Amino acid sequence: MATNTPLQAIVAGGGIGGLALANGLRRAGVAVRVHEREVQRTDRLQGFRIHVNPHGSAALHELLSPALFDAFVAASGKGGNGFGFVTEQFDRLVDFDATGIVTISGKYALTDAARDRLDPRLLTHPWSVIPPSGCGMFIAPHEFTAPAAVPAAEGLPPGLLFDDTRSYVFWAFAAKRERFGTDLTEFTPARLHATADRMTTGWAPELRHLVAESDPATTTLIPIKTSVPIPRWTTTNVTLLGDAIHSMTPFAGIGANTARRDAQLLCRMLISADRRERGLLAALDSYEAAMTDYGFAAVRTSLSTAERSVADGRLGRMMGKLVLRTAGAIPPMKRRVFADLGA
Ligand SMILES: Cc1cc2nc3c(=O)[nH]c(=O)nc-3n(C[C@H](O)[C@H](O)[C@H](O)COP(=O)(O)OP(=O)(O)OC[C@H]3O[C@@H](n4cnc5c(N)ncnc54)[C@H](O)[C@@H]3O)c2cc1C
Repeated sequence: MATNTPLQAIVAGGGIGGLALANGLRRAGVAVRVHEREVQRTDRLQGFRIHVNPHGSAALHELLSPALFDAFVAASGKGGNGFGFVTEQFDRLVDFDATGIVTISGKYALTDAARDRLDPRLLTHPWSVIPPSGCGMFIAPHEFTAPAAVPAAEGLPPGLLFDDTRSYVFWAFAAKRERFGTDLTEFTPARLHATADRMTTGWAPELRHLVAESDPATTTLIPIKTSVPIPRWTTTNVTLLGDAIHSMTPFAGIGANTARRDAQLLCRMLISADRRERGLLAALDSYEAAMTDYGFAAVRTSLSTAERSVADGRLGRMMGKLVLRTAGAIPPMKRRVFADLGA
């Protein structure tokens, strides 16, 4: 659909993917408007940060102005390098050079006193705790050195403040609904906190301390949902990106990174349409073909990671731990087995 009318993009939703796309289009001189439902910047502020993998970072590097990218880097938390798996007794199974899985439950605030009481290993990098069966826990340190104010940069209004740059360690206990023995949906944060504490009875003291000493008010319940892959549709001039088409569980920590990948690819396609290098529908069709492919692959990866994390079978878990221990002891095997983690 090549016309002489300049391209006009409308982005519905100024979230992680939509804003990345709008930034990229604006940098390239393509007319774009963003319509966002929430009125206040802090309306959906949950105080948890997300893991940005190399795909997400490369997309932001391409789409943001250098000043905004520098501001993003300056505001990034220090989560530590690598990744580790431990048993519920905090026995090490294997470490990673790359990271991946993320979900949410509670926050252990890293005040000076609380930091002294915490096992320092918990601050080195994210950990996945693998008990004998039926549940799992993800732990990740988030330490910030960035000042509360956004660094001055061209194109940014002066005096901007970041929302939440206090350091903390987050933990997320996951299990199938029936394992809790009760419906948690009406539970207050304090009751959720007490439930997580009860469910981790018998775990290593270092892990129990993390849960027990977290502020109960930070505890949140997140029912895990996933989209169901659908067949390709006929391309029109309305398309989708991010969670709007391939929402996934948070277990692999790739939802936002996939949304940014969409934004990067869609931006390239819209720029090529704007420059008349190809028709708009042909450009969108190429985007949708690629996006549904890698997007739904990410949905499947994320779902199987979630299911494995809460699987009941003791034998499967024992085998899994054996693989992790073996991989941890043999570096070439470790590299091969975990090559795609966080991709
Ligand atoms: C607990 C948890 C942890 C996660 N951790 C990670 C992680 O570590 N790494 C990672 O890559 N991903 C992570 N994710 C996933 C990630 O948050 C999402 O995949 C990502 O936010 C999707 O981006 P998006 O732009 O598609 O949607 P969103 O960021 O949700 O943005 C959508 C926007 O659209 C707006 N909107 C909705 N309806 C309308 C409307 N009708 N009109 C106008 N605006 C509208 C919303 O207000 C919102 O601002 C996590 C998710 C959860 C729940």
